[in-house]
Amino acid sequence: MKAKKSLGQNFLIDKSIISKIVTEVLVCNNDLIIEIGPGCGALTKELKKYNSNMLCYELDSDLKGVLKLLENDKVKIIWQDFLKSNIKDDIKNIKYNKLFIVGNLPYYITTSIIEHIMDSDIIFEKLVIMVQKEVADRFLARPHSKEYGYITVVLNYYFEINRVINVSKYAFNPVPKVESVVLSLIPKKEREIINFNKYKEFLKKCFSQKRKTLKNNLKEYDWNLVREVLDKHNLNENVRAEEISGEIFIEIFKNM
Ligand code: SAM
Repeated sequence: MKAKKSLGQNFLIDKSIISKIVTEVLVCNNDLIIEIGPGCGALTKELKKYNSNMLCYELDSDLKGVLKLLENDKVKIIWQDFLKSNIKDDIKNIKYNKLFIVGNLPYYITTSIIEHIMDSDIIFEKLVIMVQKEVADRFLARPHSKEYGYITVVLNYYFEINRVINVSKYAFNPVPKVESVVLSLIPKKEREIINFNKYKEFLKKCFSQKRKTLKNNLKEYDWNLVREVLDKHNLNENVRAEEISGEIFIEIFKNM
């Protein structure tokens, strides 16, 4: 089958990487796995061995010939754009204990996929996802680095993020231009209770102009309230968003 570039089709062929991803999921037979973008079923076939329930979202109906062979009473394919799915609705009739999500998807929709999962209001144990190396670096970045930004702070508020394995471009067919990394994202059990949407808006403002100071980016907020928190942490007025940790962002947000 000819891979479709427009759908980011780079199929995983390296057995050791497939096995590493499958091991990272670690489900029981009464659990549920959601797989996003099963493609030719490289991961699906192996995940199926857990004998758990599986729900797979695939956009390319030309793959029906291959994927239909993997369907049974526990494995279902939904031929739909995952970004337009109503996950909560799709899983409501499935009886399961824990939910795991796995995906090797086009890299240009990585962030949208994670946001769609966070917005869908479902409870799950872990998301194991293949991402472009540069994106992994941003997700895992520490303050004071050039990779640290809005998405780092948002995702690290919500998830505990770990690098599972680095993946060479030769693990795929066709070979992509970029190197990849498998990440595991575990929703934090003890998140600070805040209005997440308002917090995201606030963070977007903080990082709106990276070269500018926080004070400059937060002109429409009460700077005295921001400064109270900065003073507490010995941070001066000229501090930039990229120098502030997630914990301090939360403190500032809660003080306003
Ligand atoms: N998981 C397979 C593997 O590891 O070999 C395929 C990976 S390939 C990088 C990405 C797959 O996601 C393709 O099969 C593509 O058709 C599918 N896809 C792309 N966009 C999608 C979307 N919005 N929703 C669901 N599937 C999508």
